Amino acid sequence: MAKAVPFFARLSQLRDRLARADVDALLVTGLANVRYLTGFSGSNALVLVTPRDCVLFTDFRYATQVKQEVTAHASVRIEMQNLWTGLWAWLADTAGVERIGFESAHLLHRDFQRLLEQGTRWQWRPLLDEIESLRESKDATEIACIERAVGMAERALAATLQELRVGLTETAVAGILEHHLRDQGSEGFPFATIVASGPRAALPHARAGDRLVTSGDLVLIDFGSVSDGYCSDITRTVVIGRASARQKEVYEVVQRANVKSSGALRVGMVGKDADAVAREYIDGLGFGEAFGHSLGHGIGLEIHEAPRLAKSADSPLPAGAVVTIEPGVYLADWGGVRIEDDVLVTTAGPRVLTSFTRELLEIA
Ligand code: ZN
Ligand code: ZN
Repeated sequence: MAKAVPFFARLSQLRDRLARADVDALLVTGLANVRYLTGFSGSNALVLVTPRDCVLFTDFRYATQVKQEVTAHASVRIEMQNLWTGLWAWLADTAGVERIGFESAHLLHRDFQRLLEQGTRWQWRPLLDEIESLRESKDATEIACIERAVGMAERALAATLQELRVGLTETAVAGILEHHLRDQGSEGFPFATIVASGPRAALPHARAGDRLVTSGDLVLIDFGSVSDGYCSDITRTVVIGRASARQKEVYEVVQRANVKSSGALRVGMVGKDADAVAREYIDGLGFGEAFGHSLGHGIGLEIHEAPRLAKSADSPLPAGAVVTIEPGVYLADWGGVRIEDDVLVTTAGPRVLTSFTRELLEIA
């Protein structure tokens, strides 16, 4: 798997961008960006990308792991003291690197002080989202990871619904789901699993709590899995027992908004226009006030990444973007419904990666 990842192509695209930004190098401190460029998944690293080199500095704890994860595309320095000491030494030995960009979204103020104090020989330029915008468009290896993560999540959900019953706490349901996610091979949980039952389903970002699942509840389950660092993000809402007419009505609004907006995604479509497809539909049926969050977000090495599908998002969707489509309707003191899928945007149109049923399931 590691051999197929096009690290050289990523570095070459980044180098084109650095030339346009008029810098000689980029200091990469965001760990998801480090992983994207080098494959290294450890928790302590600095990467410097110049026109000729890609150098990764990490510490002795990762000496074995880094050899397995990082191959010919980057050279590795294991630092015994401090990564920054290694960086200054490497830079001092390297001619022609003067203007260096840093990631303004990922450099701690404490580390910025190091640049000002120790790095006075170089000119430091803040850059924003250079690697994040490359990451918007997924290559075949990334799409394969996300598809595996989606498959794990769907099988875990199916197994969990077999065990879902009246009298379990939301936390217990989350535990059952997380057990099945691990069983399916998930490396972890990209965010705290949401299980929100009854009136708590009206809280879009409720965590699982100690409420008991009760007959007649809507139960909203939002969760993800991780495969080779890549996340899936899925929501399904089910009913315990027979659905009421009102539950069916609200569910159908959300289901149709989901299908319409997934089907409308196109390469080049601006994020706010995608958001508007779902929003206008829900609004037209009188539930506009009840859909208070944005339609979706990119997924990849992070659970929330670019591009955004939101009222304020004005950048176009590139081919290869993988985004969530997650319309919802939330009615205070009553409950809520959200249906969230993961969708790949291609030049041939959208491909919904999630295959779990979008019909309303009544759990006996
Ligand atoms: Zn979600
Ligand atoms: Zn989401």
